Amino acid sequence: MSLVIAITVRMEAVEGCRMPVKMSGSDEWPLAEILSKKELADGSTHYYVHYIDFNKRLDEWVEESRLDLSRLQLPKKEDTKKINKGKGAGSRPCSPDRELVNGVGSGRPKAIVGRKRKANAMDKAPDEIDSQDSPKELPSTPPKTGSMRQTGSMVHDRSHDDIVTRIKNIKMVQLGKYRIKPWYFSPYPQELTLEPVVYLCEFCLKYVKSFHCLKRHKEKCKLRHPPGNEIYRKGTISFFEIDGRKNKAYAQNLCLLAKMFLDHKTLYYDTDPFLFYVMTEYDSIGFHIVGYFSKEKESSEDYNVACILTLPQYQRKGYGKLLIEFSYELSKFEGKTGTPEKPLSDLGLLSYRSYWSQTILEILVSLKGGEDGSPPAITINDICETTSIRKEDVVSTLQHLGIIHYYKGQYILNLSKEILDGQLRSMSKRKIRIDSTCLHWTPKDWAKRGKW
Ligand SMILES: [Zn+2]
Repeated sequence: MSLVIAITVRMEAVEGCRMPVKMSGSDEWPLAEILSKKELADGSTHYYVHYIDFNKRLDEWVEESRLDLSRLQLPKKEDTKKINKGKGAGSRPCSPDRELVNGVGSGRPKAIVGRKRKANAMDKAPDEIDSQDSPKELPSTPPKTGSMRQTGSMVHDRSHDDIVTRIKNIKMVQLGKYRIKPWYFSPYPQELTLEPVVYLCEFCLKYVKSFHCLKRHKEKCKLRHPPGNEIYRKGTISFFEIDGRKNKAYAQNLCLLAKMFLDHKTLYYDTDPFLFYVMTEYDSIGFHIVGYFSKEKESSEDYNVACILTLPQYQRKGYGKLLIEFSYELSKFEGKTGTPEKPLSDLGLLSYRSYWSQTILEILVSLKGGEDGSPPAITINDICETTSIRKEDVVSTLQHLGIIHYYKGQYILNLSKEILDGQLRSMSKRKIRIDSTCLHWTPKDWAKRGKW
């Protein structure tokens, strides 16, 4: 008789390993990579995982039972090297908060385009994503946080940043009556990451570690609206213009808040070169922040938006497009065309594509033909002048809509009934619009001022 001994070799799941993981709120087991692990007091281990084909906002801590260890793939050697890649890449000191941004030549991936989206309750989408906007491009793996500048940053060694900033650090944030789960890392002070909830004053955006501290703060804080000038008001919607130099503390707090919902954004503590346009909704308590965009005081490339965000609790209500519309309204007042800094984030690109399509189609459908029966005519430059949308964006939108054709030596636009009907449908959904008569603003020529 021979003795058979069964030996089970148990592979240990470490950082860099990949395997199917049961995703929260779904029955799916997509492939995921372990980014970090931690031992809990009860001896169990929890793993921080990134789902390979999904946006980082779905990254999460999971218990071991949710890992399919039978299909464990060990980390490849090159993966461990990747962590330090991008070190030393220069980034121009541009945005305080570059998410839609990701500076060209910054050493980070050039295009963050559409991310493969699955119908998932947690996968939050921006306002009014039209079906025509569903991204066709498939994503690469998410970009590394890359060149985080150290201008007053609370994060130090950059190779360390790459690891640290891939992991969400704030568990929950309370802003006014909303308790929100952050999507991404934000460099709040280390001690706050230990708290179950970080409390923000919804008006000055100061962060504190407990409800008690917030209560004490609220007794002293007299703000009921963002600092700066209210430059627009219609109904309950207002816009405030905040100078990043004059209201540094507010601008920095705004960047910290925004970073929780913006990926691969470099956070600068030098907010001086930027203006912040904060959109609010008014009620009897005060002016509640809905979203914002930042804009360079002087942009050599005529960027009219550096970074743009609608807070999650206000998404899918049309506010994202309202922010974009407002940014173009400012460009119209300046007599310029403008464009957001590129590349755009996945959600940013969807919102912009949708805005550009609607705005351009709105003009095209209103065109009238000549009395002699000739078809309506318009030049690309006319569209740019009317909308302040930059030429490249107009052309790419027409191409994306598939309505521009080259015929007998000239470009013609061919609007099908399907496109027109779709346009009418989306126009009827868009109820809130910017009313330019409610904007009280004079553009400043920052170049002449010498000092911001
Ligand atoms: Zn406050």
